[in-house]
Amino acid sequence: TGLQKHFPVHAGLLRRQVAAVKAVDGVSFSVGKGETLGLVGESGCGKTTTGRMIMRLLEPTAGSIKFEGREISKLSQGQMRPLRRDIQMIFQDPYSSLNPRKTVGSIVGAPFHLQKIDTPQGVKKAVQELLELVGLSPEHYNRYPHEFSGGQRQRIGIARTLALKPKLIIADEPVSALDVSIQAQVVNLLEDLQNELGLTYVVIAHDLSVVRHISDRVGVMYLGRMVEIADQADLYTRPQHPYTKALLSAVPIPDPAARKDRERIRLTGDVPSPLNPPAGCPFHPRCWKAQPKCATEVPVLADRGAGRSVACHFPEN
Ligand code: SF4
Repeated sequence: TGLQKHFPVHAGLLRRQVAAVKAVDGVSFSVGKGETLGLVGESGCGKTTTGRMIMRLLEPTAGSIKFEGREISKLSQGQMRPLRRDIQMIFQDPYSSLNPRKTVGSIVGAPFHLQKIDTPQGVKKAVQELLELVGLSPEHYNRYPHEFSGGQRQRIGIARTLALKPKLIIADEPVSALDVSIQAQVVNLLEDLQNELGLTYVVIAHDLSVVRHISDRVGVMYLGRMVEIADQADLYTRPQHPYTKALLSAVPIPDPAARKDRERIRLTGDVPSPLNPPAGCPFHPRCWKAQPKCATEVPVLADRGAGRSVACHFPEN
């Protein structure tokens, strides 16, 4: 709730703070047990920073993070250690997140060894079970990451993530480094694992089609703020924030008949710098619906009913 991450910018001989990059600027949302929340937005919108704050890989500048009702934003790293089992992260790049010099067995088994769980034989058995769970073979135990395809490497990363039986998984662009043909397989695997293990996901992605398939609810971020959050079906069929509408209009539609009816909204200009965000609505320099009020008054994220909230002075109906 009210999560902020401002990175200070220093200058001069005395390295005084002269400004702050507002990477995340007051974001609030919740995720229910067993639910998947998709977080989407262009690069630099603050979605990865938000995920890293939940993991406590980054300290929030302000705001609260509650996990199972317990405030965790102020816990020391030592106090966080037992919770590290419950909250895990799947990284974007399966190529760089696996140590090329380690076998699959030692990569997936590392969390067991770090937490001093089980005997070497017990760890081997547990790792082989995890490999099967993610669609790999127990015989892959002694092989090295370079012997696997991109999709298989992401499966190895997912097996490692599952080793400590987490409850919440933050998946940061889990398929964006993979071929399109493989992406659906990994998304389906994440869904199957959720059903089997009762996992809760926050899935961060710039690609709205990835998030659509897997999410129960979707939050759209722009320049460090949440601009719309709604149930997946509502958001995709009836977006109310102009930015959500523009993002959705750029998602390819395979059916040519459906494509003809859709209005393509081309956003002009780039996302402004979070070092110097525009006054008023941060989207106003690029918004085709902007009115004078938009340049001076910040729209708050307001409840629009049916579980949807929108931060816009003139939302679509
Ligand atoms: Fe566009 Fe104004 Fe809504 Fe911002 S508040 S999204 S500028 S209409």
